[in-house]
Formats: sequence, structure tokens, C-alpha cells
Amino acid sequence: MFELSDMQRAAVAAVREFMQREVKPVASELEHSNTYPQQIVEQMKELGFFGFTVPQAYGGLGLDTVTYAAIIDEICRVWMSISGILNSHLIMAYTVAQNGTEEQKRRFLPKMASGEWRGGVALSEPDAGSDLQAIRTVAERRGDQYIINGTKMFITNGRSGNTFALLAKTDPKAQPAHKGISLFIVQKGPGFVVTRDLDKLGYKGLDTCELVFDNFAVPAENLIGGVEGRGFAMIMSGLELGRINVAARGVGLAQAALDDAIRYSQQRVTFGKPIWQHQAIQLKLADMATRVRASRLLVAAAAQMKDKGERCDLEAGMAKLFCTETAMFCAEESMRIHGGYGYTKEFDVERYYRDAPLLVIGEGTNEIQRLIIARQLIQRNPVA
Ligand SMILES: Cc1cc2nc3c(=O)[nH]c(=O)nc-3n(C[C@H](O)[C@H](O)[C@H](O)COP(=O)(O)OP(=O)(O)OC[C@H]3O[C@@H](n4cnc5c(N)ncnc54)[C@H](O)[C@@H]3O)c2cc1C
Repeated sequence: MFELSDMQRAAVAAVREFMQREVKPVASELEHSNTYPQQIVEQMKELGFFGFTVPQAYGGLGLDTVTYAAIIDEICRVWMSISGILNSHLIMAYTVAQNGTEEQKRRFLPKMASGEWRGGVALSEPDAGSDLQAIRTVAERRGDQYIINGTKMFITNGRSGNTFALLAKTDPKAQPAHKGISLFIVQKGPGFVVTRDLDKLGYKGLDTCELVFDNFAVPAENLIGGVEGRGFAMIMSGLELGRINVAARGVGLAQAALDDAIRYSQQRVTFGKPIWQHQAIQLKLADMATRVRASRLLVAAAAQMKDKGERCDLEAGMAKLFCTETAMFCAEESMRIHGGYGYTKEFDVERYYRDAPLLVIGEGTNEIQRLIIARQLIQRNPVA
């Protein structure tokens, strides 16, 4: 049911080869020193990574969601932070490709696809994450410009990127609030300040920033789609893709934790035999492997629906929820299997253990995913 075509397989294999050859040998060192992987990013630009899902007509590779998810899975088997450099950039590009005017697509997408302009998504604020309708950033129309004031929090690529999709209120009094929310393409300039880099438990080597907009002027032609009040709907559709991507990250991370556990359990000997021969370890391996396989199928199913143009918030939500909980589960089980060594920086499992919790929080927390799933269940099954 989820067989990849030869072309899809070739794309995934090329990324696997790149990750194994260029990233795996340096990932642990860069992560522990919290160093931005600039050299790897330059190679990613040359290989077209920043245009993975950008339509070919605008200079990208035009990959479908199924292939994209399989690629993210491969990336996260090696180092999840690399996917962070790509993903919000690609969600930003997706939002422009889906909703932008022809002029906006021509102006922004080719430079984003080449990686010359590096993107991100600026939604969350110090007082609004799950509840995005409560944002306080305001965009006020003055002539042929909007003047933006407000603070954005936790913005991935905030320092290394220069082109963001920014959510702001064009009508702060609108009821319901989402009708007064718009989405803008903003590029760094006077009044756009990166005020701090957040220090994190994991997801290292990658910038997560607070951004302040202080009377920041944006040309009116950068209002995505050219119409006010549609930003919330635009970003929700982008988040469907984002959730499939976070689910795929969970699969990759969980697979890495499982692979390491399978290897280590054959090398480590206790009570005269390799630990995999103890039934307690076998149960862990079996549970991990079963959840990883189920996760991968959930991602592929949601991605396939997205590619068919079907609404998939229920399926993307289920994939996001299950796959990221699987990542948490596998990271912990793999650490237990590694015993004391798993708690040291000599093994990658301690990194998986620090990276996994972001997945249950980002792109809509898993509590919020459950709400989305439940609402959709009722909406799709009304009692007459
Ligand atoms: C490393 C990192 C990178 C990020 N990158 C980006 C980025 O690039 N761009 C961006 O815009 N944002 C980004 N974020 C922000 C992220 O999307 C938010 O942190 C996330 O949406 C949760 O919002 P919050 O932190 O405000 O938590 P809150 O919304 O304050 O939630 C706190 C808790 O309350 C629960 N909760 C809230 N509402 C409900 C409800 N109705 N019912 C039940 N439980 C509820 C939540 O599930 C959670 O457990 C990033 C965050 C991190 C940590």
C-alpha cells in the first residue's frame, strides 16, 4: 500500500547517503558544543534541500508529501536538528505557494528554493502558543505599508533565517478573533530585532529565538494572498504539513533509538549472555519495533491523503500524536537497554532522550492534537 516509486526511493536514498556520509560523523560533536552546522547547510543548499517541496515551476524539486516524510525520517535517524533547519523554511514556502499571489510566488519561492533566502514561521508569542487567536502582534495599515509591533517567541531559524511568515492582527477587535488575523512575508530590516537565543534541553546547534518588531514597516504587497483576515486559515493548512513532518521526525528518532538498542543488546553481555537473550530486553525491543512500524504507516497514510488534496487534520493529528509518543517511549527504552552507558554522552541515546520531548510540544502539543482528533470524530460522525 505504501510502496515508494523508483524516483521517490532514489530521492530518499540520496538523503540517506548524505546524512550518513556528511552528518553522522560530526553530529554528536556539533550537538554537544551547540554549534550551528554551517558547512552542512551550505551542502544542503547545493543539493537542493531547501526546495524539496517547493513547486518545480518556482525552482524547487516539487517532492510530494510521502517522499518528504520519508526524507525527514531519514534525516532524524541521524540528527533531528537538521530537520529543524529545513522544516519551518519549507512550511513558510508552502504557505506562499498555496496562498500567495503570483507575484509573491515569483518574488520569494525561487530564492527560498535555492536556500539564498532562508525561512521560518513566526506564530508563537510569549503569551500565546496553543491559543494562536490570542496573539498580540499588530499590523496597522499606513498607506502602502503595514507597521508591525509585537514580540514573537521560540522562532526556529530566527537568527540564521531572514524571511519569515509572520502572523499578526490586522483587526484586533474582530470577533471571532481569527477573522482579524493576517499572514505577512517579513524580511529582516530596521525594526526587526533578534533579542535573544533560547538555551534548550535538546534540539541543539539550531537557533530558537525571541524576535521583537518595533515599528517594523512591511510593504502592503507582502500580505500573503493580498487579502486581510485569512492568515489563520492559511497557517492551519500549513500546520497539517507541519504535523506530518513532526510525526516523521518522531519515526526517525524512534528508529534510531531502536537501531542503537538492537546493536547494543547484542554487544553487551551480562550473566554470561548478550542482554538481548534476556526476556525483559526482548519485550522492550518487540514493543519498540512494533510502535515504530505502526508510526511509519500512520505517517505514510496521512501524507498520502495530503498528496491527494484531501483534508487530513484528523489523520495528521493522529500521526503526530502517536509517532511523537513513540519517539519518547523508544528514547527511554533504548536508554534503559543501554544501562549506565546510555546516560553518558558517549552514546547517541542521551541525545534522543533530550530531543524527543520537543516533538510532543511543537507544532501543536499532543494535548491539542487529542482535541483536534476528538472534534473531527464528532464532526465526521454527526448523529442526525
Ligand atoms: C524548540 C522550539 C521551537 C519552536 N519553534 C517555533 C517556530 O519556529 N515558530 C513558532 O511560531 N513557534 C515555535 N515554537 C513554539 C511551539 O509551537 C509552542 O511552544 C507550542 O505550540 C506550545 O505553546 P506554548 O509553549 O505557549 O504552551 P501553552 O499553549 O501555554 O500550553 C501549556 C500547556 O497547556 C496545555 N493546553 C493549552 N491549551 C489547552 C487546552 N485547550 N486543552 C488542554 N490543554 C491545553 C498544553 O498542551 C501544554 O501542556 C517552538 C517551541 C520550541 C520549544
